[in-house]
Amino acid sequence: MTELDLATGNACYTCSFQLEDVVLLHMLLQKNPKLPVLFLETGYHFAATYAYRDRLTQEWKLNLHNLAAVKSVAEQEAEFGKLYAETPAQCCQLRKVEPLFAGLEAYDVWFTGLRREQSPTRAKLEITESTTLKSGKTIAKISPLAHWSWKEVWAYARANNIPILELYDQGYTSIGCEPCTARPASDDNLRSGRWGGKKLECGIHTFNA
Ligand code: SF4
Repeated sequence: MTELDLATGNACYTCSFQLEDVVLLHMLLQKNPKLPVLFLETGYHFAATYAYRDRLTQEWKLNLHNLAAVKSVAEQEAEFGKLYAETPAQCCQLRKVEPLFAGLEAYDVWFTGLRREQSPTRAKLEITESTTLKSGKTIAKISPLAHWSWKEVWAYARANNIPILELYDQGYTSIGCEPCTARPASDDNLRSGRWGGKKLECGIHTFNA
């Protein structure tokens, strides 16, 4: 038995449709084709990301759950302006952290495609960790690719003919919301193009209840 077998239980998978996430998705679907796939629908993704999400959802018959914020982008911008430019931590809190942690309450196991190599903030990531939600419930957080290299991710994708999000061809190495994503500033830090270097994490993996 491996940690992937936990996908047959009361598990979910958060998927941003970045390459490592799709690689792990490919593995998890072999264990549980109906695994709930949670996508943080911030309303700020690249059009290419939405098209890719929709393509895979159709072709792989995903059990997709879009987790949206309480307020639409228009409502949030009318009230607060462009938070991503001024106070991105608040924007991520409203559009990522709160929807995700509300969504996780229904599950006991949370799979992620996180890897140690992605960022200095993830260098000590373990395959098996736990997260305590706002309700006080503790769930297992499983990151089977924690020790995988970027090269291994690409090798798996190519070996399995996995379609690739076109933004990688344009030089992006870490892809999130469009206003907060640029090409990497450093080859040593794949997430260095996120948030203009102001921060490296949106908060969903550094959350403390
Ligand atoms: S990544 Fe940027 S646009 Fe997306 S939720 Fe965070 S601050 Fe807002």
